[in-house]
Amino acid sequence: MTVIGFLGLGHMGGPMAANLVRAGHTVTGFDPVPEALAAAASNGVRPAASAAEAAADADVVITMLPSGRHLLAAYRGTGDGDGTLGLIAAARPGTLFVDCSTVDVADARTAAAEAEAAGHRAVDAPVSGGVAGAAAGTLTFMVGAREEVFAQVEPLLSAMGGRIVHCGGAGGGQAAKICNNMVLASSMIAVSEAFVLGERLGLDHEALFDVMSASSAQCWSLTTYCPVPGPVPTSPANNDYRPGFAAALMAKDLGLALNALHATGTVAEIGARAAEVYAGFAENGGAGRDFSAVVEEVRARGGDSRDGNV
Ligand code: NAD
Repeated sequence: MTVIGFLGLGHMGGPMAANLVRAGHTVTGFDPVPEALAAAASNGVRPAASAAEAAADADVVITMLPSGRHLLAAYRGTGDGDGTLGLIAAARPGTLFVDCSTVDVADARTAAAEAEAAGHRAVDAPVSGGVAGAAAGTLTFMVGAREEVFAQVEPLLSAMGGRIVHCGGAGGGQAAKICNNMVLASSMIAVSEAFVLGERLGLDHEALFDVMSASSAQCWSLTTYCPVPGPVPTSPANNDYRPGFAAALMAKDLGLALNALHATGTVAEIGARAAEVYAGFAENGGAGRDFSAVVEEVRARGGDSRDGNV
C-alpha cells in the first residue's frame, strides 16, 4: 500500500484516483472545485483542505491539472508566509512526483528539475485513452523518467492503465504525447477531406469506408473514430459528435506541438496546418464537440480548390 496525494480531481483525475483507491492505496486528494472533491470522496478519496496538506504525508504526489501553468504554480506555491505552500516544499524529501497532465515539454522538464533539486524523484506520465479509459483503468501512460525511477512508478501506473511505455528521460512522455496527437489531428483532417471529396464524387460513405479500411489509408481516425455516421457505429459521429475527445483538448495539444516545433526548429507543414485548423474550429463553436466534427468544417469550406483555398 502506498500513501498518495492526488491533485486535480476533474474529468480524468477523479476516476484515476478512484482506481488507486480500488487497488488498495491510501489516497488523499485536493481540488479547489468543491464538487470535484466531493465526488472523489464518494469514491474513497480522503479530502484534504489544501494541496500542501494532500502532499505532506504522501509517498507519491500525483498531479492531473489543466496546463503547465497550473503545474508549475502547484509545484512552487506562492511562498510559505501568507501564500500557499507549494507541493515541492510541502512533501517529505524523496517523495515521488508523478505529473499525468498534458503540458509543454519545457514545463515538464522544468517541473522535474525543480522537484529533483529539492531532493525528490520526478516523472512526467501523460496519458491517452480519455475519460472512458480513466474510468476503466485502461489508460496508456507515456513516461519520461530515469530508468530506476520508471521501475518504481510502473506498478503504480498499472492500477490506472493498461499500457505503460518508458519514453526516455524528463519530458519524454510529453514529447511522445504531442507527436502522437499531431499525427492523430492530421489523419482526422485527411480522412474528413476524403469523405467530403467522396460525397461530391458520388461515393457513399460505406463504400469508401470499406475500401479505405482495407487499403493503405487505414488508420485509427478512420476505423475507430470515423468522422461520418454509419460505418463505425460506436464513433462520436453517431452521437451528434459528443466527445470522446473534445476539439478544445486537441487544439490545446497542438498548441504544445507548435511550441515544440518552434523550440526545436522543426518544420512540420501538415502538423502546423492541423494546429491552425483545430484552433479555428475550437474558436468558432467547436470546442466542446468531438474532434472528428472537423468534418463539418471541411464540408463548409468554400473557395476554389485549384488555388489551395479549400
Ligand atoms: P479538468 O479541468 O476536468 O480537471 C482538472 C482539475 O484540476 C480541475 O478540477 C481543477 O479544479 C483542478 N485544479 C486546478 N488547479 C489545481 C490545484 N492547484 N490543485 C488541485 N487541483 C487543481 O481536466 P481533465 O479533462 O481532467 O484533464 C486533465 C489533464 O489531462 C489535462 O492536462 C488534459 O489535457 C489531460 N488529458 C485529458 C483528456 C480528456 O479526455 N479529458 C485526455 C488525455 C489527457
